[in-house]
Amino acid sequence: MSIYAVGHKVPDSDSIVGAIALSYLKNQIGEEVIPARLGELSPETQFIIDKFGFDAPELKLSYAGHSLYIVDHSDIALAPDDIDQATILGIVDHHKLGDLTSDTPLECWIRPVGCSNTVIKMMYDFHQVAIPKDIAGIMLCAILSDTVIFKSPTCTTADIRCVEVLAEIAGVEDFKALGMEMFEVKSAVLDTPMRDLVMRDFKNFYMNGTHIGIGQLEVIDLSIFDEMKADLAADLAKLKQEEGQHTVMLLLTDIMKEGSELIIYSDDEQLVEKAYGKSTTDNKVWLEGVLSRKKQIVPQLQQVFA
Ligand code: MG
Ligand code: MG
Ligand code: MG
Repeated sequence: MSIYAVGHKVPDSDSIVGAIALSYLKNQIGEEVIPARLGELSPETQFIIDKFGFDAPELKLSYAGHSLYIVDHSDIALAPDDIDQATILGIVDHHKLGDLTSDTPLECWIRPVGCSNTVIKMMYDFHQVAIPKDIAGIMLCAILSDTVIFKSPTCTTADIRCVEVLAEIAGVEDFKALGMEMFEVKSAVLDTPMRDLVMRDFKNFYMNGTHIGIGQLEVIDLSIFDEMKADLAADLAKLKQEEGQHTVMLLLTDIMKEGSELIIYSDDEQLVEKAYGKSTTDNKVWLEGVLSRKKQIVPQLQQVFA
């Protein structure tokens, strides 16, 4: 039996970096924890770990008989498929409370901040463990990614303070420039298969039993999608047919204009109207000021399906 730290399915930078940073902390305080992941790295995450000299955590899908620290989620739909056969030792997260539960007492670090790595920084402070330079570097990138370089409404003063401290440890002088460099990598969507783009940051939710899938692509300039938007939309519709969700959405987020174009296919034609008070044209609508799936998209849908 081993102990693993693992983030959510279709891992983002917060999930991968969180697994690495939490494992290091646990190892320092005498608990042997192995970082793991539930899927392939995104180009952004690859950029981050290459930059600071890390290898990808072990790809591991099955955890039966093992113990786990869950990072960056607490939803069964986003967790390992056989999590019911594993022992959950702890949850480190910054999302709404999900439906995971445990058989034994567990350690819970859940805070309404912009990134799980901000919570992990609090854990380092609590345990008085120094953060190594390279780990500070990847944690700082994860926070810049999740908070969209502080623009997201999920960003708190704790996240900003945390980035400042981590940048100092990592020796990163201009962290906003590093953030933009990261989003440049994230914006490189040309010559990528449509399904890879739809699935790059895709999450399935069960809202009162209704299956909803929501993907998001965050780029510096939305015009990059002009040529491929029709193909993206067609692939999203195809995904819905294949997987049978009630609703599938893809958010094309422009981090400079600070808004998102929502592409949606739903069994309920009025859903966007009910949730966001807007009507769609050709299954699309611009949502001004919307950057955050967890804060500006999911809660409104939860209410519709409550
Ligand atoms: Mg995440
Ligand atoms: Mg996160
Ligand atoms: Mg995100």
